[in-house]
Amino acid sequence: MLSFSKFHRMYLLRFRFSLLVFLPLLAIYACDFTASDAPLTKVKTNPKILDAHSYANVAQVKTTHLHLDLEVDFEKKYIYGVARHTMLNQQSDTAIFDIKGLEIQKVTVGEKGAEQNTDFVIGIEDSILGAPLSVKIAKNQTKINIYYKTTEASEALDWLAPEMTKGKKFPYLYTQGQAILTRTWIPCQDSPSNRITYSADVKVPKELMALMSAKNPTAKTKDGVYHFEMNQPIPAYLIALAVGNLSYRKIGKNCGVYSEPEMIRQVAWEFQDLRKLIVAAEGIYGKYQWEQYDVIVLPYSFPFGGMENPRLTFANPTLLVGDRSLISVVAHELAHSWSGNLVTNATWDDFWLNEGFTVYFENRIMESLYGKEVADILAIIEFQELQNEVAEISKGDHPEDTYLKLSLNGRNPDDGMTSIAYVKGAFFLKTLEQLVGREKFDVFVQHYFREFQFKTLTTETFEKFLNKELLKPNGFQFNTKEWLYKKGIPKNCVKIVSPRLESIKQMARQYLAGKDIFKVKVKGKRRRVPLRRDMYITQEWQAFIREIPVKSDTLKLALLDKKLNFKGWANAEIATDWFVLGIESNYKSIRPKMEKFLLKVGRRKFLLPIYNALSKNPDDLRWALKVYEKARPNYHAVSQNTLDQLLNYKTKSK
Ligand SMILES: [Zn+2]
Repeated sequence: MLSFSKFHRMYLLRFRFSLLVFLPLLAIYACDFTASDAPLTKVKTNPKILDAHSYANVAQVKTTHLHLDLEVDFEKKYIYGVARHTMLNQQSDTAIFDIKGLEIQKVTVGEKGAEQNTDFVIGIEDSILGAPLSVKIAKNQTKINIYYKTTEASEALDWLAPEMTKGKKFPYLYTQGQAILTRTWIPCQDSPSNRITYSADVKVPKELMALMSAKNPTAKTKDGVYHFEMNQPIPAYLIALAVGNLSYRKIGKNCGVYSEPEMIRQVAWEFQDLRKLIVAAEGIYGKYQWEQYDVIVLPYSFPFGGMENPRLTFANPTLLVGDRSLISVVAHELAHSWSGNLVTNATWDDFWLNEGFTVYFENRIMESLYGKEVADILAIIEFQELQNEVAEISKGDHPEDTYLKLSLNGRNPDDGMTSIAYVKGAFFLKTLEQLVGREKFDVFVQHYFREFQFKTLTTETFEKFLNKELLKPNGFQFNTKEWLYKKGIPKNCVKIVSPRLESIKQMARQYLAGKDIFKVKVKGKRRRVPLRRDMYITQEWQAFIREIPVKSDTLKLALLDKKLNFKGWANAEIATDWFVLGIESNYKSIRPKMEKFLLKVGRRKFLLPIYNALSKNPDDLRWALKVYEKARPNYHAVSQNTLDQLLNYKTKSK
């Protein structure tokens, strides 16, 4: 059994299940899988199997519209209600949905009010994918209603007690669907290959406001009942809900921000350039297609910097640094309104199509607003992270994870959320741009967004489109296959240089060599003035810190803290780099600040490098486990899962 890949096990499981439960299913599967020992590559290229991370039989019967009737119960910490699916049915007598951590109460068919119960079977649970929910239907049936309740195992949901919010008076709930967590709060066909429209009627306690990735209210209703509509088809991972004591502030035409009222001023200030970002993005790749663009700043447990839920980006409060220097994360989420939300990866193996395009586009927005110098600094910092990650992955169990086209069958799609998809993807596009020139490249990308809007595609389809529309007609030779299907970073990768980064790195080297850097010459001033943190942007300070080698003299680190207070800087990007350097240099006086940080911030991007550095020696690991024990309840399941694995942490319930 060991030699069986997870994909094969899945196949066997489905096959056995179909034999036992619905014999007619055999016909369907027989057509999907022509031979039981079909080689993996053959199975993967079979166009009928779109997605190894979903049980849904979308080729036979697929949801086109989903209506949710839901009630959110904060006391019992569950959501219950009905998922009403309108299906496009190609004469199938079974519809298969994905579920994980859900209690299914009953399934009916027919219009609301004239429903009839129908048989359903829940298959064997897989620890990553959850289970298939197979519903028996007539071959012309198009309405399926699933009555259900979420449970403690619904990993998409983060229920926050009042003390974990800014205002500390009201509870809070938000969801995180990507990659395959929507099935943990909605029974659905959870594959990005299928796009659906949705609507929802959601009841929440009346002192709270509910928001979704849909047309949203800007004020609370009297009765806590909210109606939502998303009329453009989206993949299921983009269905999102946030419930809390929320307020709204308009920033400009068609855009604004939500947060708890206690921080709304700070949020509005930090994201004041929101409208400018939209104008810049539209100037590059054409009209924003989702009417409204709002950002909600969530509590600190949110595991990501941002999540591009359509019409309503979910953002992390670590972006509120007071100097607007992390606005690039919002540029990134906005860019997803084109790459990811409008044109979507068909499977999680094609994740780079979402993220590589988005990082590339984000950089273009930043360049158009803040200049090439700033955009280059951002790109170089990211490229450094990519090089480190390529080195790490190459040493590990899955060196093929450095391909752009991934192969995540049998693994958690979260394993593909590395810099490869993001930064290698973006540098692939930058390298192409350099070859063909910006003008031609922009025409090509605009064409790409038009051609595939509201559709999904695979890497192979993109490759064909690239050859046909850009490379061949212009007579360009390019090593596309090497970029997409080979390891590491190809030699022709575009090189970016930044004199500004070079000069701050030099300052770090001079400091290490014993020079006093704390008085600097500033243009227009006769005397040297004290070095201040605001003289450089976030990414320049990151380059400064990264230039200091590990195992550095702790006295030198302490002096930097005394003069510039890196360890107490409320900028999580800088604090994280500083903590990691501190851990690797055995500089223990960072611990109190680091502990505070780990107890407050739940964003995986920061937690992972810090805990990873701590796990390298026994004394640090002991300390880390003590902190983790306390901090873990403050993290979302996405971060908990990653860190449990890293620290080999076993919960009592596991
Ligand atoms: Zn992204």
